[in-house]
Amino acid sequence: MAERQLIVFDFDWSMADQDTDHWIFEVNKPELRRKMEDLEGKIQWIDLMTQLLREGHKKGIKREDIEHALRIIPYHPAMVRAVTNLKSRRKTTFLCLSNANSVFVSTILKEKGLDTLFEEIITNPAEWDALGLLKLWRRVDPNGPQHSCKTGCSPNMCKGDELDSFLARHGPAYDRIVYVGDGSNDFCPVLRLRSNDIVCCRTFGGLPKRIAQDGENFGLKCQVKYWTGAWEIEEIFNKL
Ligand SMILES: [Mg+2]
Repeated sequence: MAERQLIVFDFDWSMADQDTDHWIFEVNKPELRRKMEDLEGKIQWIDLMTQLLREGHKKGIKREDIEHALRIIPYHPAMVRAVTNLKSRRKTTFLCLSNANSVFVSTILKEKGLDTLFEEIITNPAEWDALGLLKLWRRVDPNGPQHSCKTGCSPNMCKGDELDSFLARHGPAYDRIVYVGDGSNDFCPVLRLRSNDIVCCRTFGGLPKRIAQDGENFGLKCQVKYWTGAWEIEEIFNKL
């Protein structure tokens, strides 16, 4: 049995059963959700989200509207059970590695009673200003040194580098790492896992495609378990 165990969670479509950036506009301002769709790939994602939050604020979306959307986001009860039971049953460290932002993640975790689950939440910084605008920044400041990821991480954050620096801060090495993710930007950190580690890869999203196309070429070493619904994560976690 692994003595020191680390569980790493992506957030959107992994911990939560939706994408937070999409969801707050689907709930509050569908025209901006459409604009997001139209501009995806043309503007860096965090910069686009920053711009749309500003536009939404001008169009009357209030802090309470966004917080309400976050509190009602689809979130599977089995996911809450899975992490709560694992944490109470045995010594396990949880890390959140998310391309959402600190306000979205913390608001949702608080609503689910999971605000003390994670040792660290590594994500894009955000804060409310006095007028109820959510200000958002890239994790990697565009005016400072940039990461050199060649695997396809977005300029705002290299999840592989972030995982490595977390591991360096929290030595000695974990006996086992389990990574739960769905997106193409989860591929880079998954490549850093060892043969006794596990990726729980959602059956839809960019991650299963990257694993199928590039897993072998990029030297993927960890075990791959596929899941669709959070009840399957609960099954996997119950055996850890
Ligand atoms: Mg995701």
